[in-house]
Amino acid sequence: MAPPTLPLNRRAEIALQDVPLQEALGRTMDHFVTARLKAFADLPHGEALRDHARRIRARTIAQLDRHLLTLERQATANGSQVHWARDAEEARKIVMQIVRENDVRRIVKSKSMLSEEIELNAVLERAGLEVLETDLGEYIVQLGHDHPSHIIAPVVHWRLEDVARLFHEHLGTPLDADIPDLVGAARQALRAGFLQADMGVSGANLAVAETGSIVLVTNEGNGRYVTTTPRIHVALVGIERLAPTWEDAGTLLQVLARSATGQPLSCYTSIITGPRRNPDEDGPEQVHIILVDNGRTRALAGEFAEILYCIRCGACLNVCPVYRNIGGHAYGSVYPGPVGIVVTPVLQGPQTWSELPQASSLCGACTEACPVRIDIPRMLLRLRAAEAEQGQSPAWLRQGIRLYAWAATHPRIFRLGGRLAALALKLVPGKKQGWVDRLPPPLNAWTDSRAFPPLAEKSFSSRREERDHA
Ligand code: SF4
Repeated sequence: MAPPTLPLNRRAEIALQDVPLQEALGRTMDHFVTARLKAFADLPHGEALRDHARRIRARTIAQLDRHLLTLERQATANGSQVHWARDAEEARKIVMQIVRENDVRRIVKSKSMLSEEIELNAVLERAGLEVLETDLGEYIVQLGHDHPSHIIAPVVHWRLEDVARLFHEHLGTPLDADIPDLVGAARQALRAGFLQADMGVSGANLAVAETGSIVLVTNEGNGRYVTTTPRIHVALVGIERLAPTWEDAGTLLQVLARSATGQPLSCYTSIITGPRRNPDEDGPEQVHIILVDNGRTRALAGEFAEILYCIRCGACLNVCPVYRNIGGHAYGSVYPGPVGIVVTPVLQGPQTWSELPQASSLCGACTEACPVRIDIPRMLLRLRAAEAEQGQSPAWLRQGIRLYAWAATHPRIFRLGGRLAALALKLVPGKKQGWVDRLPPPLNAWTDSRAFPPLAEKSFSSRREERDHA
């Protein structure tokens, strides 16, 4: 996905003024947070479990090459076909090759952020294939010609009434249909798709190296249909999504479900270990596992390898004050929120996504919520520093910081500057109790969306001097 042309602050402004979006976010975000907190509070050893999950991710990523080879060996022994894709283009080509070799016409998909990352649907549709998203959220996104705005809740930006209108137009449900009716209509529409599909495409929440298995967690059961009903199953797996053993997978699944939806375990945990074998009565004839790198090896070798610990639970999005206010689309990247503003520049190159690391207040709520305790603020600071070191930040900002640094090391000049600023603020007309509603350009960027607070009567340094001499 290419970065949007509008700057991030403009995109954020548009999102803040989008009434339906603000209503939708207001209705759902708190639920995620309270459910997660309760799920961990109910667990006597919740914090220890998170520490253990982090250790598992750290040692897995440190020995990723070894675990990937084990996965390949075990999966091949089970009858799966393992493919390696260096980047998005190679991954798409591999899928298209499987499509051509097997005369595939219809495809059903379960939710996969990796398929969004490699922009698979566009290629499949351009090739004239019928593609049906079967996760309810993704189905809504597809019907509405939209794209997901959250890692685990793709339509968190849609209100119930918007979904009801969409289903009314496409599926003929009443405009005032409630959730069970809408879900029933979607189930009806999707059922035929499952039965007619030649190929199912899924992601993988985990790939377990010791048995060469793919693990999918869903709450709708669509993942089971996608991976068992069509004759071919293709699983797109990011190379970092490994668990070396089932014991490790068990720990990660416990923190994943709790962090994502506040459930002890998701409703469906599907384990796929190769295609159908005698005497299996159903299941796919072929299972293809595509291991996708797409920038992950580069990340592994650098100072941002920690972001590969991510298990894509979405908890950091739900607590982030930026995400909670602007939603996912304003970021302009496939992965939004705190994880997105690190993983996107790290995987796709910081030059093209240099704005994203600015979309954070560095409050640290993300790290507090993250089940594997990823230090996102540390990486954001490094990304911002790297941008400044490479001279990519705006010239006015660099010069301004230089001027400030110089003044801050010259106390008399600094004090004089403070006095002049206080004087200038006094001269600004139309203040209310010292708050300034409109500053002149270029300072108006601040007052366009909020008032400038009154300066303190006495500066910090003069108060400290008074205290020291009292
Ligand atoms: S960074 Fe942590 S909280 Fe955010 S999606 Fe990844 S695992 Fe979940």
